[in-house]
Amino acid sequence: MDRSDAEGVGYGRAMKTKPRSNWAVRKAAEKHVAQMEGRYRGLLEAAPDAMVVVNQAGEIVLLNVQTEKQFGYSRDELLGQKISNIIPQGFAERLVTDATRSVAEALAQEIGTGIELSGRRKDGSEFPIEIMLSPLDTAEGILVTAAIRDISVRKAAEKHVAQMEGRYRGLLEAAPDAMVVVNQAGEIVLLNVQTEKQFGYSRDELLGQKITNIIPQGFAERLVTDATRSVAEALAQEIGTGIELSGRRKDGSEFPIEIMLSPLDTAEGILVTAAIRDISVHIRNEAKLLELARFDLLTGLPNRAVFADAVQKAIAWARRGGPSFAVLYLDLDYFKDVNDTLGHPIGDELLKGVANRLKENVRETDTVARFGGDEFAILGTEMKDPAGAGVLAAGLLESFSKPFSVGDNQIRSSASVGIAIYGVDATDAETLLSRADVALYRSKEEGRGIYRFFTAEMDTKMQTRVALGHDLRDAIGSPQIFLEYQPQVEAATGRIVGVEALARWRHPTRGMISPAEFIPVAELNGLIVRLGHWVLWEACRQAAKWREAGIASGFMAVNLSVHQFKTPLELEKDVAAALAASGLPPGMLELEITETLLMSASLAHSEVLARLRAMGVRLAIDDFGTGFSSLDYLRRYPVDRIKIAQNFVLELGTAASTAAGSAAVVKATIGLARELGIDVIAEGVETTEQLRLIKLWRCREVQGYLFARPLSVEDLVPLLQACKIAPHSVV
Ligand code: C2E
Ligand code: MG
Ligand code: MG
Repeated sequence: MDRSDAEGVGYGRAMKTKPRSNWAVRKAAEKHVAQMEGRYRGLLEAAPDAMVVVNQAGEIVLLNVQTEKQFGYSRDELLGQKISNIIPQGFAERLVTDATRSVAEALAQEIGTGIELSGRRKDGSEFPIEIMLSPLDTAEGILVTAAIRDISVRKAAEKHVAQMEGRYRGLLEAAPDAMVVVNQAGEIVLLNVQTEKQFGYSRDELLGQKITNIIPQGFAERLVTDATRSVAEALAQEIGTGIELSGRRKDGSEFPIEIMLSPLDTAEGILVTAAIRDISVHIRNEAKLLELARFDLLTGLPNRAVFADAVQKAIAWARRGGPSFAVLYLDLDYFKDVNDTLGHPIGDELLKGVANRLKENVRETDTVARFGGDEFAILGTEMKDPAGAGVLAAGLLESFSKPFSVGDNQIRSSASVGIAIYGVDATDAETLLSRADVALYRSKEEGRGIYRFFTAEMDTKMQTRVALGHDLRDAIGSPQIFLEYQPQVEAATGRIVGVEALARWRHPTRGMISPAEFIPVAELNGLIVRLGHWVLWEACRQAAKWREAGIASGFMAVNLSVHQFKTPLELEKDVAAALAASGLPPGMLELEITETLLMSASLAHSEVLARLRAMGVRLAIDDFGTGFSSLDYLRRYPVDRIKIAQNFVLELGTAASTAAGSAAVVKATIGLARELGIDVIAEGVETTEQLRLIKLWRCREVQGYLFARPLSVEDLVPLLQACKIAPHSVV
């Protein structure tokens, strides 16, 4: 059928039922509608809703195919029909106009708002609809377009939701997350108070709103469904999994969320419940964790992993023609003393101060990291030549000359530095780092407070050490390791007052290895504890044996390593056990400890030292003068004897430039010991001249080659039996 005909017929019929209208006006309206029809037909048919255009008399003058479907009438039946026939209650009343009001006027105030009503089908059944009205201002007066949406599905869902609401409200509100129930159209039909809080909307604003308004990206795409798929179907595959998205608040700000979807299978179709969790805190925590994993908590400096990354980057850069760089290892000298004497909180503050000072003294592009404890590493960038790294190291060490203010304390600290240069010492990160470490070890060995470049010779030495360490493991407890004893004599008479037990190692292939070489190795790999234990027991056993045989050996002096004090209680027990097992009177055992130990003596150490002394064991300070011990340590710790370090004694009477200084140290030490009532013995006496001076300064006891070298048991026994030794110059 021709459309204009239909229009005409429809209109004609409307004319019959509405005789009161003026014919001319109608004709004009009819003409207009015909024009409109041509213009708007496509538009009307594209609309998903039923669309009707109603004239001032309330008659349908234009409609789309959806209207036919929704109401069960044919186009012909509908055209010219009063709209109140298909939308009876409510709307009909609104449309009933008196003589003074046109339908348009009656509807004006409703325009733009959705009106919920009932539609009546041809078969008399009713269904819920929502009408949106808009005016069509034409030359022939105002017509009204009504978009009529069948909302039966939504209504059913809403009804269900209302029921649910009653049932689930408590549950929803108890949830810690924002919870919304979404209908098939993607509209929010139920929500809890958390949703209001999270998104900054009121309940009323949220209800009926598309969920895509509050969860815009990603999720929105998922929810956009085509005609063949419902929202629920679209979401079905997501159900049960957490989806990370952004939520958008009313103020437009976005925040990270995680959504868990679950279906609500209702009689009216599937609804979807979304639990929306604000994960910003979680993400912040994760970021924090990530940060923690990369940065040192105390100082905020990058850690070893970050440093290694930086080295890798510098290598990559250098390989592409960028400048060379240096890795510096820096370790504080005697940091343990600070910790032990001033406490860990002060130690921590000092580390922070050091971190800051290092940062202040490197370039912007350099990296300062803390590897733990008092170990720091610096990546010195843009090194044009190796000397630049030396300048950097010297600058860092120089910066330590200013004391660190920690609370009320002014702490002086020095550091040792080891340097490895990219391209010179290594071309891979791992070797570079380990070589810087080797160089650091060297600078510690050579006096601390200095820096050392890595050298190939160090490396060989290091490798030998590692190899030695392996061999030493098997040697301890085997005849390869044995003791020699060096007599200590009364300077005036040559009477033997004691012997010092000195460890010896006869290596199966390398021959005799000096303790100066293997003791540091043992300290490095922890074997010193086993070795020290063996020496202690063997020395006690030997001394007790001589005593039983009536051979007077005097004190038995045993050297202790600082490392043996790492477990001071074990050490104390070991000493007591060695004495008990051998039967040696405690007063005959003298333990030689170093100044370093005294300086770093923690409370635990000093208690053990005091208990050993209370046991009757003697304590001597070995190599006195080489460390940094002060009068204070001597006052604080109960020592019986000071052993003046041989490097001072050896210079006495020589032309060495430092001879005068050494003489002063020796003289002062002797005087100091006398003042404090402590015995003193001079080590390393090799010449009669040295002996003369020592005696002149009133040092009563000496130990040195002038009287005897360290001797095997067989060689020593005759001397012990003779009771005294005559000095014989070895030089
Ligand atoms: P030390 O405890 O100061 O031992 C004295 C060292 O000086 C011994 O070296 C001894 O042989 C040497 N000496 C003694 N008189 C003279 C002299 O007149 N001139 C010269 N030039 N040297 C003299 P040795 O036996 O090589 O031991 C070196 C160091 O190794 C010891 O120094 C000690 O610190 C350590 N040591 C040796 N045995 C042990 C041990 O059983 N345990 C521990 N922890 N350290 C040990
Ligand atoms: Mg010694
Ligand atoms: Mg010594």
